[in-house]
Amino acid sequence: MLYFEKSQPAPDCLEQEKLKASGDYKCGCVLDRLKSDFKNKCYICESKAPASVNVEHFKSHQGNKDLKFDWDNLFYACAHCNNTKLAKFDDILNCTDSNHSVENKLNYYFNPFPFEKIKITVNADDNKTLETQKLLNAVFNGTTTLKEIESDNIRGELLEQIQHFQKYLTKYFKDTNDAKEKKRCLKKIKEHLSSASAFTSFKRQIIKDNPQLLQEFGSYFLN
Ligand SMILES: [Zn+2]
Repeated sequence: MLYFEKSQPAPDCLEQEKLKASGDYKCGCVLDRLKSDFKNKCYICESKAPASVNVEHFKSHQGNKDLKFDWDNLFYACAHCNNTKLAKFDDILNCTDSNHSVENKLNYYFNPFPFEKIKITVNADDNKTLETQKLLNAVFNGTTTLKEIESDNIRGELLEQIQHFQKYLTKYFKDTNDAKEKKRCLKKIKEHLSSASAFTSFKRQIIKDNPQLLQEFGSYFLN
């Protein structure tokens, strides 16, 4: 989970929709803004350009119109994550609130081979962090037979992304590289570490856990 700044103010159409008897919080301008703010990534699993997008209520609205149409409560999630979270995880870290420091509280471990599961560990023991850990373990490993298949598919995409990333990391340090090739690899590594990339948290974890890699690439975590 990464920090994303929610653009302000709320889209005008959201207030208009709220006034209608059967208004829609998923109006076009809301979708465009969420897609842009969250860089077209599910904020929970970090899948890029998910095939099925849901507008998620961070706090479940349960019929409360203010919560239902509250711009700060609308998040961009894939269907798998939205259906796993539901109202069961209503007290997780808020990735749009910089005070929640989502990027320092969770660790993402994946052994990049087929059939490997994902392990999320924590650096804090407050309730929001522990609930977020539970949710992430659930979305990446599945909770029902159907969701296990979906999680397996997400891990398949993750495996490919990590393999790509590994390829450029390995190439970057080859002493046979000329300056042009090294520059090309660095460009790819920067792209993988940017918040717009798929599964950024897993890639940054690889860097964080290795002092030499952290020294070389740690400054690219900011965008
Ligand atoms: Zn997701």
